[in-house]
Amino acid sequence: MNNIHGHCVCGAVEITINEYSNFVYTCHCDTCRRMNSGPVLSIDPGPKENVVFAKGEEQITIYHDEEVERGFCSVCGSTLFWHNPADNHYCMNAELFDEIIENASFNLELFYDMKPKYYSFAGERKKLDRYFQEIQP
Ligand SMILES: [Zn+2]
Ligand SMILES: [Zn+2]
Repeated sequence: MNNIHGHCVCGAVEITINEYSNFVYTCHCDTCRRMNSGPVLSIDPGPKENVVFAKGEEQITIYHDEEVERGFCSVCGSTLFWHNPADNHYCMNAELFDEIIENASFNLELFYDMKPKYYSFAGERKKLDRYFQEIQP
């Protein structure tokens, strides 16, 4: 899949990712759930050069969460990304991108040991705990 194009709810921010696959993962950590009212579904856009803030970069507010950055739209509040400046690694909100929603392959759950008991995703996939150790089914 090439050049997927996404936007926040209000459209102030538009993001293009070059040369991306359809791999989607989730994070059950308490911070992601508190910010997003549930486990956030993300894509890994690869190197920073793949991420193009096509419109509205000045509308992005960064919340500094210890050593990482969480970006959201200043107008509508949509979660945009998680970013680690140390290695310039992004996790991008998968739901910004219509092409991802239609073609996603959901195959990883992170911080699974922090998942509350009241919800679960159907189906089997790889699960890692907060120490990135695999949880055996
Ligand atoms: Zn917005
Ligand atoms: Zn998280």
